[in-house]
Amino acid sequence: MNIQSITAPASFKLSAPLQESPLTEATALRSEICAAGEPWMGRVAQGQTFRIVDLEGNQAVDTIFFNANNLQERYSSAHTIRKSGQLYLGLGSKLYSSNGDVLATISADTCGRHDTLGGACASESNTVRYSLGKHAMHSCRDNFMTALMTFPLAEEIGLEVGDIGANINFFMNVPVLADGELFFADGISGAGKYVEIVAEMDLIVLISNCPQLNNPCNGYNPTPIQLITWDANHG
Ligand SMILES: [Zn+2]
Repeated sequence: MNIQSITAPASFKLSAPLQESPLTEATALRSEICAAGEPWMGRVAQGQTFRIVDLEGNQAVDTIFFNANNLQERYSSAHTIRKSGQLYLGLGSKLYSSNGDVLATISADTCGRHDTLGGACASESNTVRYSLGKHAMHSCRDNFMTALMTFPLAEEIGLEVGDIGANINFFMNVPVLADGELFFADGISGAGKYVEIVAEMDLIVLISNCPQLNNPCNGYNPTPIQLITWDANHG
């Protein structure tokens, strides 16, 4: 996340209902921990369910989805906002691609709101927003680049740094004020809250478990996340 912090409005309300998942870890296909501040990349096949758990709370998870069978088709915040008529993601939200197709649907959510607008933090934006001395600090863009330059899966399928595009900030709350200003209101997620998507096509998922320390999007304390995948038959 990348927006300056200002005071939260008293009238803030979540826009989506909360719903727990019936799935349990005992039937999961795989479960992994992504360490604080680190990137992750993996496949989620059509029909599979993918859960991101905010293990310790208040952790932004910058995420890009690609169509595994056509890497030029990837998550589009513009298509998602326009087609859903909604700025925030929550239970039932469909995540649209740059071709206007549905990549995934949010099938369970215990947080209530996820951001479409804030983008990913970067060395350059840290420098502009905070100070020149912040340039060397770890950022989500660095994580995306590291994954795409060094992970075997990226080389295997041919994803490159130039493929970085719009991302979702799961567990981040960035409401838009009446005057159009983006508002960085944190504190909606907590330890153990999770969001779950069902893949509507074969997906490549690229995550930066946000390392930002210059604003409160991670509570000034980046923490690990858990990534759990279930097969379509949940077995
Ligand atoms: Zn970040």
